[in-house]
Order: sequence, then structure tokens, then C-alpha cells
Amino acid sequence: MTPAPAKRPLTGETLDSLRLAVAERGEPEFRAKQILDWVYKKRARSWDEMTNLPKGLRAWLADTFTLMPASLVLNRHSADVTDKLLLELWDKSLIETVIIRAPQEGVGMECSRKTICISTQVGCAMGCVFCASGLAGLRRDMSAGEIVAQLLQVCYAEDERTPRARAELASFDNIVVMGMGEPLANYEALMRALTIVNADWGLGFGARRITVSTSGLAPKIARLADEALGFRLAVSLHGATDEVRSRIMPVNKAYPLPKLLPAIRAFGERHGRMVTLEFILIEDVNDSLEQARALRDIALDLHAHVNLIPYNTVEGLPWRRPDAVRQQAFADVLRKSGVSATLRREKGHEIAAACGQLRLKTERERAGGEDST
Ligand code: SF4
Repeated sequence: MTPAPAKRPLTGETLDSLRLAVAERGEPEFRAKQILDWVYKKRARSWDEMTNLPKGLRAWLADTFTLMPASLVLNRHSADVTDKLLLELWDKSLIETVIIRAPQEGVGMECSRKTICISTQVGCAMGCVFCASGLAGLRRDMSAGEIVAQLLQVCYAEDERTPRARAELASFDNIVVMGMGEPLANYEALMRALTIVNADWGLGFGARRITVSTSGLAPKIARLADEALGFRLAVSLHGATDEVRSRIMPVNKAYPLPKLLPAIRAFGERHGRMVTLEFILIEDVNDSLEQARALRDIALDLHAHVNLIPYNTVEGLPWRRPDAVRQQAFADVLRKSGVSATLRREKGHEIAAACGQLRLKTERERAGGEDST
């Protein structure tokens, strides 16, 4: 069992749970809203800033809660397109949170679309063979408070970029739950976190701009479809036949395409919106025209959007991306049949920049340092 931190993360509390906690202490319930306003609206970085709270209450908060359960280790800018935040949790675990700026043609960086990609687990148990995040397996689930804290750290990072205006989370276009981990394998913590992210007493970010991505846990997709908040869904397909998918994604053995595709269809019908199929193009694995045609048939059947992502090399893994001609030929098969499809261009090399690699590199460096002492 994962050990618990000494203090609860304040960012994991809902308004109701915090009301209960302050009421048990004999404080009026309105204090809960005041506390959350300090966290999410005024972005207090210390208990002392919460000046409209009695000193005794502040002392109790400091004894009971961690104000920021994910501390910044480094922020790596990449050609002004991405910010990769490496964050450390209470048990020294490292996670990555990424800000992606996708420039819009002709309007420059200031008008770029901004997406935040967050993690939900430390490591991952799903074992996709091409992935850096899953290389060392699953260490533990992240708590709701740790998941939410990533978004506050993003706001802090944006504040540093533009010191004159405080960055609001609402200024971002999308949040994608696509970082390290299988989000639907940490379902309760994820839903609690997204409730806090969405709530007006929390970060106030619209559920329809939040995309939850899964490697294909079909029963959990059905559960997600029943959530009242109405999140978007992306499914990492990466193989258009069971034969190819099973070769690179062990999850396909439990939930092969005849189980997965009906769950995706049901989700799309329930919410009346396009589901996205993510498809990482890996040379000589899934980049053939046969795979393109099979993917086309699936996308047409599901009325799904396809996002083609040329593979980013991971140190120590043998996989490579296909050349540009082959990528284009694959995309053409989809588009010529009327499938809505995007193919990430060169920027993608940095944008997708091998999710999980910064963490992996830092962990290896740390382990090397420990060995040498
Ligand atoms: S691709 Fe996603 S689901 Fe697969 S191992 Fe990596 S983090 Fe886990």
C-alpha cells in the first residue's frame, strides 16, 4: 500500500469537505470558501498571506494541510513552444506537467492555442512498449490534490513569463489528461480533481475544455460517459487491428477492439461530440497503408477525429518515426475518405517531445548521484 503524506494537500479538498473540516473545529462554514478563495482566486503562496483568517485558524491549517503538494524542480522551455514543468511530490516522486503553445497560422505566438497536459500517476502500469513513462512501471497513484496542484504550478509559471498580468487558468484553451499514467486507472482521484478544477469555488475551468485520455480501459470509458460534467474523450489507439495493437499495447489483450470500439461509440453517442483517436506513427510497426485503411474504417464508423503523432525517439528503445513522405501518405488515406485528421508537423517533435523523458533522465541522474556517494 502507498504510504500517506504527513499532511493532506489542501488542493484535494472540495468546498464540502473543507466546510466539514472547519465546522469540526468549531469555525463558521464560510471560512471554507475564504480559504479556497485564497488558494484559487488570490493564489496565496503562504498561510501568512491569508490575512482575513484568524491566526489560530491559519496555524491549524498549517498543521493539517500542505498548501502546495507539488514543488517545481525545473521548467524547461523549448523554442517558446512548450514549457515542461518537472515537479516533485512529497515522497520525492517526479512528475511532468507540460504547457503546449500551438501557433496559429499567420497570427504569431501571442495568439497561439494553449494546452496544458497533466499527469495522474507516478509511472504507469500499462506497459505500452514505446513509452518512456511506463518504462519503470507504476510507482503509485497521484492524489486529487497532487493532480490539481499541477495546474496551480502552471499558473505560477505563466505569471513568471508575463509578470505584469496574473495568468488565469481560463486563458488556456484546453486541459488534456494525457501525461504520465493511465488516468482511468486512478478514477476516483481523477474525478475529484476535475471536480475541483471545474468548480466555481475552485479553478473554474469548463469541463467541455477538458479531455480525458485513455489507453483503452473499456469499462471505465462507459463509466466516464455517465459523468454529469461531460468531459471530452481521447483514446490512444496506436494500432488499427488487434494484431498490431496487441503487439505494442498490452491493454489490448484485456480490451481488444471488439470490446473497445463499442465503448467509444457509446461515449460519442451519449455526449454528441467527436471522440479523438490518438495514433502514434511508428516506423514498420503501424505506419503501413493497410493500417491507414483500417484506421480510416474505424474513424468513419465512430465518426471520430484522428490525431496522427510521429513517434519521438526514447533513449534505450528501438522504435523510430517514419519519414515525412510516409507520414503524409498515411494521412492522405484518411483525409481522402473524409476523415477529420491532423498530422503533427515538425513542431510536434518538440511538443510531444517524448513525454516522460525529462522525468526519466532526472531520475537516472539522481540514481547515478546516489550510487556514486
Ligand atoms: S502510453 Fe500512456 S498508458 Fe501507455 S505506458 Fe505510457 S503513460 Fe501508460
